[in-house]
Amino acid sequence: MDRIYIKRLEFFAKHGVFQEENVLGQKFLISAVLHTDIREAGKTDDLTKSIHYGDVSHMMKEYLESHTFALLERAVETLAEKMLLEIPGLQEVELEMEKPWAPIGLHLETVSVAVRRKWHRAYIALGSNMGQREGYMQMAVDEIGAIRGCEVEKVSSFVRTAPYGGVEQEDFLNGCMQIRTLFTPRELLEALQAIEQKAGRERKIHWGPRTLDLDIIFYDREVIEEEDLQIPHVEMAKRDFVLLPLREIAPWLRHPITGKSVGEMAEELTQHYVM
Ligand code: ADP
Ligand code: MG
Repeated sequence: MDRIYIKRLEFFAKHGVFQEENVLGQKFLISAVLHTDIREAGKTDDLTKSIHYGDVSHMMKEYLESHTFALLERAVETLAEKMLLEIPGLQEVELEMEKPWAPIGLHLETVSVAVRRKWHRAYIALGSNMGQREGYMQMAVDEIGAIRGCEVEKVSSFVRTAPYGGVEQEDFLNGCMQIRTLFTPRELLEALQAIEQKAGRERKIHWGPRTLDLDIIFYDREVIEEEDLQIPHVEMAKRDFVLLPLREIAPWLRHPITGKSVGEMAEELTQHYVM
């Protein structure tokens, strides 16, 4: 992706863990790399097709001077989030904040903290087979969309499916959604579990009836294999109730390990059924 650089913008602020720093203040410098597509601006010479580095410089200075944080880590984390949420077309941002006069009793040129933050794309499978199924599914979509740092981009239709896993229970309603998120995979899992809880879900029987089940199917092209989190979701290629709604919104999406597209996986599964 194309980049716009802002290097070592000076400002005066009161960040620091010592009380004196919060009163007296000192000089800081902020550098940013804005990842954005500038092809259209390059072709048309139109600033509205790019990101205005003057506006961004003022935004960073104003934010960092009007807030006081103990840590540089907190300053760059919250500023990166604000920029990704508020600057249209900004896909990824790198920030480095320098504190040349850090009071550590030694001579050094500068200390700095740097972060790189971006929008990620994730696919979430929704399922419900207890009570107001449609209501729980819609609630999940609304709740996810209301989270700061999560935006709903696409929602499939909700399909009815027979239960899975051999437990006697009501039919399921299943669907999939595509979101854009600033969360890490683990933060996203926690947010989804909080929504399941809010829907009154109790984990009693594995594969048993549930008001709401929210699973992360894909998160960018990442592969995560940990005790309590596997991405891509391990069962996805075997589940028509995941693949069919997912195919509606992302048929071309490829599994990062097998290399098969959602369309191909769905096709293989339905062929298997006929035989
Ligand atoms: P299931 O979704 O298989 O019916 P649960 O919803 O009860 O079962 O989830 C059991 C556990 O699966 C969760 O506690 C969670 O830690 C784990 N898990 C592993 N990978 C994922 C994933 N990709 N999405 C959601 N949960 C996951
Ligand atoms: Mg689950």
